[in-house]
Amino acid sequence: MPARLIFLGTTKQLKNSAGIVLQTNKTQLHIDPGAGAIARASQMGIDTKRTTALLVSHAHIAHCSDVNAAVAEMSYSGIDRKGILISNSTLIKGVGEEIPYLTMYHKNSLEKVIILNQDDKIAVEDVEIHPLKAIHQDPNAMGFRIMTSEFVLSYSGDTRYSSELISQYRDSDILLLNVAEPFGETSSSNLTSEDAVKLILQVMPKLTIITHFGEKMLKANPMNEAREIQRLTGIQTIAARDRLIITPTSYSELPQKKLNVFTLPKMMPMDEIKKEEIVPEEPNEIKELRGILQQQINQ
Ligand SMILES: [Zn+2]
Repeated sequence: MPARLIFLGTTKQLKNSAGIVLQTNKTQLHIDPGAGAIARASQMGIDTKRTTALLVSHAHIAHCSDVNAAVAEMSYSGIDRKGILISNSTLIKGVGEEIPYLTMYHKNSLEKVIILNQDDKIAVEDVEIHPLKAIHQDPNAMGFRIMTSEFVLSYSGDTRYSSELISQYRDSDILLLNVAEPFGETSSSNLTSEDAVKLILQVMPKLTIITHFGEKMLKANPMNEAREIQRLTGIQTIAARDRLIITPTSYSELPQKKLNVFTLPKMMPMDEIKKEEIVPEEPNEIKELRGILQQQINQ
């Protein structure tokens, strides 16, 4: 089965913050299981008992509120000591006066609990996971670089833009960015569309996916923002939406041409899956705009 990237929830708002599932041949990773993660996954036909590892980028509620429920699923409510949790230290140990989100009971239900430190590398079945630096309110926030045999995906987690982040994203096939704010906004804790453009131009991935939208972003319409990011960078950019499924390997096989993207409408039977194909536009002025932006970045 080709790898699948499944978006369960794509906003900062809790009603749509259930995270992302990456399925490969041997593994199922649930990244940032926020509110409703288990319910949303089961609506999408994902068996959360089969999750190999949970990856939690930081201890904000939209990223980890269902972590204990997800552990309960993996471990059959603690009957089996099963499953792996890979996260920052805040989730497991707390920070300052914040107590840990992960309860002792659920911690003890897991087969392995791994706090990722800089320079760590973790192999889980057929994927390798490295932490990525992030600058956010949770001082231990991180992103993840996920390497499969077919593609490298860098997930930013929640972070503000900083030029010091660029080098760690290099050589990524897919940039998965939490872009909370639209063009014209500034943020001291999250990426804006403008920041995404700066990042993409310096990393030049094959594909960018933006997700984790704040209210202003939703008002601006993430699809329009993605279109503008793509126009300015020349890199195919998709705005994630709830229930979006992406098969990254189709992209690898046909670089720059085809990416199979399809959504599962709510509870629709499989034969009614709506399929759409996204082909990048190549506007003439891209080179010129890229030059201008590059100059801005270099300043
Ligand atoms: Zn956050």
